[in-house]
Amino acid sequence: MAKKVRNTTTRAVRGAKHVYFFGNGKAEGGRAMRDTLGGKGAGLAEMTNAGLPVPPGFTISTAVCSAFYKQKGKLAPAVDAEIAVNLKKLEKAAGATLGSATNPLLVSVRSGAKFSMPGMMDTILNLGLNDAAVEGLKARTSNGRFAFDSYRRFMQMFGSVVLEIPKETFEHEFSAVKRAKGVTLDTGLDEEALREVVLRYKQVVRARSGRDFPQEPREQLTMARDAVFRSWMNPRAQEYRRIYEIPDHIGTAVNVQMMVFGNSGDRSATGVGFTRNPATGAKEFYGEFLVNAQGEDVVAGIRTPQPIAELQKVMPKAYKQLKEITTRLERTYKDIQDFEFTIQDDRLFMLQTRNGKRTGYAAVKIATDFVAEGLISPKEAILQIDPESLSQLLAPGFDPKEWNAIPVATRGLAASPGAASGQVVFSAEDAVRWSDAGKAVVLVRRETVPDDIRGMFVSQGILTATGGMTSHAAVVGRQMGKPSIVGAAELEVDEGLKQFSVKGQTVREGDFVSFDGLTGEVKLAKVASKPSEILQVVAGDLSPKKSDIYRRFSQVLLWADKYRRMEVRANADQPDQAEMAFAFGAHGIGLCRTEHMFFGEGRIPIVQRMILADNEADRRAALQELLPLQRKDFYGIFKAMRGQPVTIRTIDPPLHEFLPKREDLMVEIAKLGGNLATGPSFERKLALLRRVEQLHEFNPMLGHRGVRLGITYPEITEMQTRAIMEAACQLAKEGIKVMPEIMIPLVGHVRELRDQKAVVDRVAAAVMKEAGVRVKYLVGTMIEVPRGAMTADQIAGEAEFFSFGTNDLTQMTYGFSRDDIGKFLRVYQDKKILDKDPFTTLDVEGVGFMVRTAVELGRRTRPNLKVGVCGEHGGDPSSIHFFERVGLNYVSCSPYRVPVARLAAAQAALAVKVGD
Ligand code: ADP
Ligand code: MG
Ligand code: MG
Repeated sequence: MAKKVRNTTTRAVRGAKHVYFFGNGKAEGGRAMRDTLGGKGAGLAEMTNAGLPVPPGFTISTAVCSAFYKQKGKLAPAVDAEIAVNLKKLEKAAGATLGSATNPLLVSVRSGAKFSMPGMMDTILNLGLNDAAVEGLKARTSNGRFAFDSYRRFMQMFGSVVLEIPKETFEHEFSAVKRAKGVTLDTGLDEEALREVVLRYKQVVRARSGRDFPQEPREQLTMARDAVFRSWMNPRAQEYRRIYEIPDHIGTAVNVQMMVFGNSGDRSATGVGFTRNPATGAKEFYGEFLVNAQGEDVVAGIRTPQPIAELQKVMPKAYKQLKEITTRLERTYKDIQDFEFTIQDDRLFMLQTRNGKRTGYAAVKIATDFVAEGLISPKEAILQIDPESLSQLLAPGFDPKEWNAIPVATRGLAASPGAASGQVVFSAEDAVRWSDAGKAVVLVRRETVPDDIRGMFVSQGILTATGGMTSHAAVVGRQMGKPSIVGAAELEVDEGLKQFSVKGQTVREGDFVSFDGLTGEVKLAKVASKPSEILQVVAGDLSPKKSDIYRRFSQVLLWADKYRRMEVRANADQPDQAEMAFAFGAHGIGLCRTEHMFFGEGRIPIVQRMILADNEADRRAALQELLPLQRKDFYGIFKAMRGQPVTIRTIDPPLHEFLPKREDLMVEIAKLGGNLATGPSFERKLALLRRVEQLHEFNPMLGHRGVRLGITYPEITEMQTRAIMEAACQLAKEGIKVMPEIMIPLVGHVRELRDQKAVVDRVAAAVMKEAGVRVKYLVGTMIEVPRGAMTADQIAGEAEFFSFGTNDLTQMTYGFSRDDIGKFLRVYQDKKILDKDPFTTLDVEGVGFMVRTAVELGRRTRPNLKVGVCGEHGGDPSSIHFFERVGLNYVSCSPYRVPVARLAAAQAALAVKVGD
């Protein structure tokens, strides 16, 4: 391992290749080289090799980015030399020279990491222009307007990205000239006006950066390259990587590419599109373009772009070619493509292609369509769908009756499906603040900028006044599965005053808004949502025949089941949850928390009586009352699971959790005492308080809980065993199969388990004798105390199964309290001490080591030991990959996560097979 690392470092400094050329129908890279070239560079290389019209250029590898950071912004002379060689090559291919006053080469300098991060990093267009070259460009094209439009664009982008002068400073000057000329659209400015803009920009640069705008193109190129590398570490890119779990160390590549011009007149255009609808998955050519414009205009939402169908009318030849090319790309990549193109004087150029981001809904539709079209196999289909995205399909919609009763306030573009309802906020910071305070918010913006990403993440939905289907808000919304509507042009948003108006009505911060991201309708009211189509089918309220998406969804999961090795169980405490779990395809219950039953209707007083009892007889009396209630619950759960295993955990939490809070009691007692009231109510409260004080613990998570309760109050374990076994025997008599697995929590020493197992076995034998039937049951334990994991070989001598309680195991291995980690987790992540929340994604190195060791030790004693996991991690796809590798028999998660886990387990099994 260490050897490998050293090799790559030496390679990066010496000899190795850092720059990859593409052009003239041949590229040095290809689509398999995303690690080195980034997604964009690999796509450009691939398209070049396929003979598609791609402007020539070269890619500076991601390794150079890493070196850039390691060497504090300095690069080895060898890298510069390689760039110079490739630049020569590019000039030759382009037939133009960087900085030439007669025939200038212009290039774009584009960021592009392995994983696409839309809009998070920087790109600079029209580089190479200076006062001489702009005249050369004008002379060559006989188009002064175009030449100066390109120059002002370049200065603006270079000025803001490289020289770090605020964008608004340039926009201010640009608007001033537009106002003076009396035009509203950028395209309304003529050459003379654009010369004026350039002059003003030069003044801005001098005033703000203390130097003249750099005129030397090679210096421009070096500065732009370094700025793109720097943009890898800008705060929004870091935030994006944190949300999508993209590692920091992989870096971005830089693509330097000959410019083609969508802004050279009315026979030119620029656009973006998808081979299928990324919101619904429908098989339709989908996209937008702008005539006489350059790249960023389409996504920036300054001018509203036209739908791509219009392109067929205005430039039919280019349209036809674009459609053919992108259809071919879809077949090559076997996935929906998200592409960028530019048309220069009726000639089409491809500038980018990548696998398109899509909603969960579209992911399922597209994958099943691809299989039906024979493009991919079912196995490829299950590898193509992000398991996490399946949970989007279970997200609620509005109740049609309630929704239809409210008038539509306005409509926008349906950018990402789903129902959103909440209180309006107008900035990303407010969205974060309000949602931290427990409120459901809808983020309303004129347009969103990449910096809004955190606010978008915490909102119920995103609503913008400008922008098209491919604008930032739309792309990010779809990817997050956030309901989004963009381009709701009737909204007049005033972010400063924190209000918007629509058709004469004013909506202020905190007012309620609801919208449907599938239809684009916005309503000014709070609307309750209703279950998704899939949940309706699962609940039996809708026939599967009537739901296309349900049939596709279950098809995908059936395919997944073929490749899955691990079973998927559900954590369910009540019969209705068990029914849901079964309907989602869970093979049993991995965790039934009996104490949740204690909180049921009318039960808490009985539980309290049990706790308050100061002698065994009183305690037994209270337990006797709980027995029939628990038995009824178990009966329902066993029945719902139709003979599949059900793991029932005996009581786990510290007893004080069932009693009122100490502070509340003291206040009530003080009140009663003040009224000089004595009487039974006062006495009862006093007794409660005394017991609460006795039970008060300094660190309740390490306190008198789990197996420790069963050992000190064996009658509780007795009652629970009796309830379980009586329910099981009852069902057995009714001819229904049952498989109870009784699980003792928090065991750290084998003797703890031995003690409780004796109680369970004794009571079970008695119950079966009384009932006159035999039921096969298992007794096992949770492994959640580090000592339990480290002595798993001894514990397996008693336990017939293990279930990892990875929440407690994480808590005790790290010494982090799950309830308090929120206070410092952000700081830990910002300082790169932790990448992920260890309570969400298993810490493989530490806690995972415990798991792996316990599995090995346990199976040494009992080779056929059944092992599962029932912590939150059981539903987390990347943790599931780890559980597959260490050979668990099953994962257990919440019923709603069961589909996610089924798919993730199949992907994990396939990944392990291909060699992991
Ligand atoms: P992002 O990753 O943010 O999409 P890109 O590097 O793809 O950034 O550049 C954004 C847009 O700039 C492209 O969609 C394209 O329209 C335009 N662009 C980039 N390179 C060129 C080029 N060589 N010629 C013309 N337009 C370009
Ligand atoms: Mg792009
Ligand atoms: Mg636990």
